[in-house]
Amino acid sequence: MLADEPLCARCLAEGVVEPSTVVNHVERHHGDAAKFFAGPFEAICKPHHDRDVQREERAAERACQ
Ligand SMILES: [Zn+2]
Repeated sequence: MLADEPLCARCLAEGVVEPSTVVNHVERHHGDAAKFFAGPFEAICKPHHDRDVQREERAAERACQ
């Protein structure tokens, strides 16, 4: 998977060339095994992955309140 997308797509969109180190699920799989294994995925760098995951978790917390 990382061989297919060796560079972080989100960094490229900002004009930055950064190797992708994490495969992220584009859609939340919600425990759906078919989605978990089939994707869609995107290959991104860890800083982008961590930032987006934290943002999603904060959004989820707000949704629960
Ligand atoms: Zn990135």
